[in-house]
Amino acid sequence: LYRAAKMEGSPVAAWPGERMPPRQANVEDLQEALTLGQIRLAYQPKIRCRTGTLVGFEALARWRHAQLGDIPPDVFIPLAEAHGLIDRLTLKVAEQALDWLVDISSEATANRVGQHVLQDMLLSMNVSARSLANSELFDAILRLCRERGIAPQRIVLELTETSAMQDATTSLDTLTRLRLHGFQLSIDDFGTGYSSMVQLVRLPFSEIKVDKQFVMTATDSEESRAVIRSVVELGRSLGLNTTAEGVEDQKTLDYLDELHCDLAQGYLISRPLPPEDILGWFTVREAQ
Ligand code: C2E
Ligand code: CA
Ligand code: CA
Ligand code: CA
Repeated sequence: LYRAAKMEGSPVAAWPGERMPPRQANVEDLQEALTLGQIRLAYQPKIRCRTGTLVGFEALARWRHAQLGDIPPDVFIPLAEAHGLIDRLTLKVAEQALDWLVDISSEATANRVGQHVLQDMLLSMNVSARSLANSELFDAILRLCRERGIAPQRIVLELTETSAMQDATTSLDTLTRLRLHGFQLSIDDFGTGYSSMVQLVRLPFSEIKVDKQFVMTATDSEESRAVIRSVVELGRSLGLNTTAEGVEDQKTLDYLDELHCDLAQGYLISRPLPPEDILGWFTVREAQ
């Protein structure tokens, strides 16, 4: 029976008592998580390569399911996109991140730690290219900024290039309006998707992020270094901020600085942190 089950590729447990693999999170789980506020954020610092100065944080969504444990964003973001929940999720993320920006600013004042750094820093958040069709989402984010007295200039919207961005007229329209409101726009994961130089020139971006798959392998791979060099050069020639993500060692950071890459993000600097750990992280870093 066991062999037969195996041969047919059946996932059914073959022996009584054999452990079933845990079930996957589904759309009902995600709906519930959104309703109950179970999507939380971790924040990863972004520094200037040249000086090591903190410039801001990227907010990254986290979901810990009571039974299923931690579900990675690479699983639940596509799930949200597939079931029309992504705009709701993005709005939750924006609300939490903007609240945190207010909190960290008052914590900085109360503790007299890094006031001017933490009060003026940037906040990056990820936006699905699918959401570009929904202008109400961005009106809502703008309203959240206004209610908290946060200048949109401090908010960086990171967009991963997907086929959705190929619809250049809708995208250009929404992106141009976001830019006019002051939001900064970033192309995430550059080098992996559908991007072309043409799009970069046409769309109003202010930052280009080199994908971590190249940065993480920079020390070992000449191909990766070649991609990094050309992306940084492209960004610079278009007057964009260049950021490398996935910086895991000092040698890579030095290399990026040599190339005049502007900003860096990665485990070398810090893993994404829960909000309650950030002031501590900052204090330790400043003391070094
Ligand atoms: P991303 O936007 O490219 O984010 C960078 C990912 O690389 C994050 O994974 C981060 O934790 C990880 N990372 C940062 N530094 C290093 C490093 O030095 N080494 C390695 N190995 N990894 C590093 P994470 O948090 O699992 O997020 C995965 C992806 O899920 C994100 O990729 C983003 O595309 C998506 N995502 C996360 N949060 C949101 C969100 O709120 N909205 C949307 N639309 N997408 C999100
Ligand atoms: Ca990102
Ligand atoms: Ca990225
Ligand atoms: Ca990615």
